[in-house]
Amino acid sequence: MIPVIEETIERLLAGINAISLPGPGVTRPSYSDLESQAHALVAREAQRLGMTVTRDAALNLFARLPGRDRTAKPLFIGSHLDTVAMGGRYDGQAGVVGGMALAAAFAAAGTPPPMDLVVTITRAEESVWFPVSYIGSRSALGRLSTEDLHAVRSDTGRTLADHMREQGGDPDAVLNGPGLAPATFVEIHIEQGPILHRAGEPYALVSGIRGGLRYRNARIVGEWAHSGGAPREGRADTVFALADVVTALDRHWAVLLDEGADIAVTFGRVDAASPEHAFAKVPGRLDFCVDFRSNDVATLDRIDAIFRDEIAKVEAARGVRFELGAVSRSTPAMLSGALADEIAAGAARIGESPRRMASGGGHDASAFAQAGWESVMVFVRNWNGSHNPDEAMDVADLAAAVGALYATWRE
Ligand SMILES: [Zn+2]
Repeated sequence: MIPVIEETIERLLAGINAISLPGPGVTRPSYSDLESQAHALVAREAQRLGMTVTRDAALNLFARLPGRDRTAKPLFIGSHLDTVAMGGRYDGQAGVVGGMALAAAFAAAGTPPPMDLVVTITRAEESVWFPVSYIGSRSALGRLSTEDLHAVRSDTGRTLADHMREQGGDPDAVLNGPGLAPATFVEIHIEQGPILHRAGEPYALVSGIRGGLRYRNARIVGEWAHSGGAPREGRADTVFALADVVTALDRHWAVLLDEGADIAVTFGRVDAASPEHAFAKVPGRLDFCVDFRSNDVATLDRIDAIFRDEIAKVEAARGVRFELGAVSRSTPAMLSGALADEIAAGAARIGESPRRMASGGGHDASAFAQAGWESVMVFVRNWNGSHNPDEAMDVADLAAAVGALYATWRE
């Protein structure tokens, strides 16, 4: 345990989380004065450590600690400081203070890192404020569009360009900027799920960020009939039809997991034509949605083929017709296995062996990976879910993750 790591984490978390709208929980909207104040607090800490602080046109913040080899590819490490409304103390903050704690460990030891270490605070990661993904990181990477800048903030109704300008940014320069040259990006983040907590493990390496394949407005069309009068033979019951598909997909899901695939299957919004349906009717129509997630495009295609195959069987057996409607997709981001291996080797040096796991939620690291960066995430165990005031994390777990990164690049 390196004292300066834990001390830096505690102090910065307390400082950052004091900057918020009144509770419950922590609220720092994207491109608000509060988000800017939180960035400024970290900037002051960085300057105290002798780091050089710069901001780009979108007001992402970069605090650079010079490395031994100034020509080596820099290591960017960080996350975001905006939060959802009434959010928690760690989603985003953990990654920023973790990066600063890593810089503080190098500064305290008096030995520079092998390459420039650039603590990175992205802007506007939480897409609840503007309906655009990864605004800050995509700006830094030269990937924001004019259309994105016209998106309006959910509470003020004013555009992203307006809010960016108000905080001192330059939207035109964001559009015309070339973007950062590909380097290495590490994002520490709370898991936002129960896996590490249940397993009793402090942190993990993230192999990929899941993408999705969704049918948001699917429908089954059958035949209305009297529940007492219609014989079993000849019914076209949409509820039984959906049940067949759901149970079949549940079996396929288990098989795919056994084969080592990464996949999650979620059906929802099941509505057997209320209010048209009533107690004494065989349901003639049913609306539902389904959300498939995986870190692998081929697995998404495979589950889609299985889904359609099962539908064909059920249509033949039950005399119903499925209308799937539009499909929407998001691309999985494979994170860098080589970089994860490097960190795993660092962790092994201090006797730790973090597991590899997929991320169910989207993160800035995904934007960096999609821009061709070597990008990886480190998940920290947390409790009580995320995006709520009860979000909980043990500082010692975050310190352990930072300790592994320090062990990776200390030599
Ligand atoms: Zn986050």
